[in-house]
Amino acid sequence: THFGFETVPLVEKQAKVDDVFHKVASRYDLMNDLMSAGLHRLWKDALITTLKPAKDRPFHHLDVAGGTGDVAFQVLDAGGPQTDVTVLDINAQMLSVGRDRAQKRFPDDDRIRFVQGNAEALGLPDNHFDAYTIAFGIRNVPRIDKALSEAFRVLKRGGRFLCLEFSHVDVPLLDKVYEAYSFTVIPPMGRMVTGEAEPYQYLVESIRKFPKPQSFAGMIEDAGFRRAKFTPMTGGVVALHSGWKL
Ligand code: SAM
Repeated sequence: THFGFETVPLVEKQAKVDDVFHKVASRYDLMNDLMSAGLHRLWKDALITTLKPAKDRPFHHLDVAGGTGDVAFQVLDAGGPQTDVTVLDINAQMLSVGRDRAQKRFPDDDRIRFVQGNAEALGLPDNHFDAYTIAFGIRNVPRIDKALSEAFRVLKRGGRFLCLEFSHVDVPLLDKVYEAYSFTVIPPMGRMVTGEAEPYQYLVESIRKFPKPQSFAGMIEDAGFRRAKFTPMTGGVVALHSGWKL
């Protein structure tokens, strides 16, 4: 076909991802707490501590694959009156949960806005943002290299890229426990809370397929970022990646 042999699976991948988050949006936050036993909060805290948004001058923040708003809310809490956050996500259902939560936590606060868009083609201006974050999102994006060059494009010189993502456990024993947990606990737990196991099967597989942190750091540098580095957390269950647009 005129699609060629690469495009079709990528289009299918995004469709599958969209279907997963469409189905789980209303239960997403609850599932996050259950499945990570609350750990996702600590991982996000580490992201914000590393980011340190400016309190006393303008700080334009972009949170991609921002879903229901967790990272954005923490950026607002840590920032100041001149902080603004754009939450971008491809999924209207996730954004709608995020908007409702924002209205409760930050009523009529115009420092936060929600935008539907694709990480691979942001539709946002060049050299605008002081920081770009993506938490547990880049693994879902079919063309990671495109998402990374978009991140680079929209950041100012001196801007920072930060990415939280599941990684690869390399601690003996913990790796076995983690694997057992992934395959025997996560999908049934997903079925119990959302009525579907398949989205959580997808979740586990996408984590396994994601590049090792060393090679993901290489991709970040290939996109133009400097000083790419990563910090494994919880024995490598998650890694915090960072890079600078210098
Ligand atoms: N960042 C949030 C958090 O940490 O709680 C949400 C993470 S959730 C696991 C992944 C999000 O990525 C979903 O909201 C999904 O809609 C979004 N997503 C998937 N593909 C995307 C794309 N190509 N562009 C933007 N967002 C995307």
